[in-house]
Amino acid sequence: MKVKPIVAGNWKMNKTPSEGYLFVDRLKNLLLDIKNVSVIFAPPFTGLFDMNIKEPLFSAAQNCHWDSSGSYTGEISVSMIKDCGAQYVILGHSERRQIFGESDELINKKITTALSGNIMPILCIGETAEERDNGKTNMILNKQINNGLKAVKDIKNCIVAYEPVWAIGTGLTASNNQVEEAHGFIKNTVRENYGKSQDIQVLYGGSVNESNSEELFNLNEVDGFLIGGASLNLDSFVSIIQIVEKAQEKKL
Ligand code: PEP
Repeated sequence: MKVKPIVAGNWKMNKTPSEGYLFVDRLKNLLLDIKNVSVIFAPPFTGLFDMNIKEPLFSAAQNCHWDSSGSYTGEISVSMIKDCGAQYVILGHSERRQIFGESDELINKKITTALSGNIMPILCIGETAEERDNGKTNMILNKQINNGLKAVKDIKNCIVAYEPVWAIGTGLTASNNQVEEAHGFIKNTVRENYGKSQDIQVLYGGSVNESNSEELFNLNEVDGFLIGGASLNLDSFVSIIQIVEKAQEKKL
């Protein structure tokens, strides 16, 4: 795959705009040697504006609305995100699915809106512990991909993050086999739907840290990470980025 691997940090509802600004200001100076990785940070909406960043750093929103504007109190549109300078939006995170009741259908509406507004969606999918224990992992992944990407004609601007729900924020990481199997399944499903040459970037998310990132990144079909907890700490986030940079250098 020619595109650069991605290390993305999802800050969730953490960091005020001033804290985020300070973090990014320091981060920029620590990424001067990064050539082979795209780094994305996803602050709360209030921290997206006027971040003054450039490659390898990009910003993402953590959500968006499916409509372009209107009477939707408390919501944010794709054009607002775009105007803040963000290039990506995280959609379908398990917290949005579980706490806010977002369905595949709703996520799909947001994905098509994001794509038509030239914002790249990072579609999060993944099974719960119960679904895995009951042998339903592939069925769930298949459903979330097919419904999430329904009516999307061109997937070159979409990214998928495989995030087993039981591994998010728990300190539990999927095993090497589980990661390779799930990523392979996701890529094959996309190829079946869009054609053999259609490669999609698949990020792994679920308790990624400085100690496990090298091994995880070197697994087959892993194109980077979506990181929660460890992205809030500057040292940890930068260490993971540097680990991926070095590992990618060896692959080139
Ligand atoms: C996440 O919330 O997407 C995530 C992967 O969190 P953590 O890295 O903390 O498990």
